[in-house]
Amino acid sequence: MASNAFERALARLDQAAEQVDIPPEALQRLHYPKAVLTVSIPVRRDDGSLEVFQGYRVQHSDLLGPGKGGLRFHPEVDLDEVKALAFWMTCKCAIMDLPYGGAKGGVAVDPKQLSMLEVERLSRGFIRQIADFIGPEVDIPAPDVYTNERIMGWMMDEYASVVRRRSPDVITGKPLALGGSQGRAGATGRGGYFCLRELARDRDWQPEKTTVAIHGFGNAGQSIARLLHEDGFKIVAVSDSGGGIYNENGLNIPQVINGKRAGSKVEDVYCKSSVCDQDDVETISNDKLLTLDVDVLIPAALDDVITENNANDIRARVILELANGPTTMEADKLLEEHEVTVIPDILANAGGVTVSYYEWVQNRSGDYWTEEKVDKRLEKRMRKQFAAVMELAKDLKVSFREAAYCLALKRLGAAAEALGTQALFNGKA
Ligand code: NAD
Repeated sequence: MASNAFERALARLDQAAEQVDIPPEALQRLHYPKAVLTVSIPVRRDDGSLEVFQGYRVQHSDLLGPGKGGLRFHPEVDLDEVKALAFWMTCKCAIMDLPYGGAKGGVAVDPKQLSMLEVERLSRGFIRQIADFIGPEVDIPAPDVYTNERIMGWMMDEYASVVRRRSPDVITGKPLALGGSQGRAGATGRGGYFCLRELARDRDWQPEKTTVAIHGFGNAGQSIARLLHEDGFKIVAVSDSGGGIYNENGLNIPQVINGKRAGSKVEDVYCKSSVCDQDDVETISNDKLLTLDVDVLIPAALDDVITENNANDIRARVILELANGPTTMEADKLLEEHEVTVIPDILANAGGVTVSYYEWVQNRSGDYWTEEKVDKRLEKRMRKQFAAVMELAKDLKVSFREAAYCLALKRLGAAAEALGTQALFNGKA
């Protein structure tokens, strides 16, 4: 087995490359991140002490455009994980036909242990360290796990101080008041929802007869839960880092979301309450939630939650990956044997980067769109690319995941070819 997260991610690309006719040079390029930056961020704590955090920004590929990808604050962030996440961004932007390459960043920190002022100092300190490495036409960050629109606003503001001009297009996922886009906050969940609706249509599923479990109830998990609930899907379980709740007749999702928010205090940067804190709920563990007998399982928290250790116990018919990298390659094989359909992360959670792209376009043009326009454009693009992946999966008789990688490879391969390959330089193309 490949030793680190980046190598494991590349293994999937190599597998897909056997299915498509692309110049070997395209594949060769994708095996190496374009640029990697490691920084140390000294942060003054509220008690006067100094703490130094490690941060990373990786630009994986700029074949199709400037780097694009989120920033994560999490204790388990490390360079190999950030490289893998940047690589997935390259594939995701290619699948969605966006004029972007792939990038990602993160800081190894448990942000829930910091006060709001400490999070602000960390966010601004990180941007000061990477300001020369990013830019509106070079590399554009966005929110990811445990970073949110408030943090994006601080980062944009700090970047403006460093470069001495206002550049809202340097970062996406900002608050509306600071140049954010309508519809960005719920875009990742909404994109996944369009994928699931297309699949349900293809399979002739009735929402009210379709049960769903959601692992992770943050930005992505809550927004898809709300949309599926409105459509009549029966969401029987949701969970967060504090554990899960279950109701076989379906949870009242607006009530669960309101309950979680009500448990948070104004001074908290993060929601510190759990879905389990609510009254009159049946609680279940996160492990149990993953193996519930449901039609659709939606991992929407962290990577590597479906592994060879629990894949044989998964009873869902469909897995919609809102999280990045929730299923390991070993688990994928077992799921395929059990005929579980996996809608892969690089397609299912691409709604976020798509509306980030719309935000960037609005920032650059100064023309701001209505929420309706944003949602309509997102729906059109998601449905088109979902159909392209589904068609390729049927044609090549491969999984959705392999088909998604094949589609990305075709687009990346075409760009590499346009720059010239060995065949061209040898006069054979
Ligand atoms: P978030 O910080 O808003 O929410 C994360 C959720 O996961 C929280 O509810 C948290 O309690 C829960 N969680 C953390 N550890 C857990 C554990 N061990 N077990 C169960 N739940 C746990 O983050 P988010 O933005 O919703 O991102 C979630 C996933 O979606 C990540 O993998 C992220 O990379 C991916 N994603 C997010 C976006 C976006 O626009 N926000 C876009 C694409 C992909």
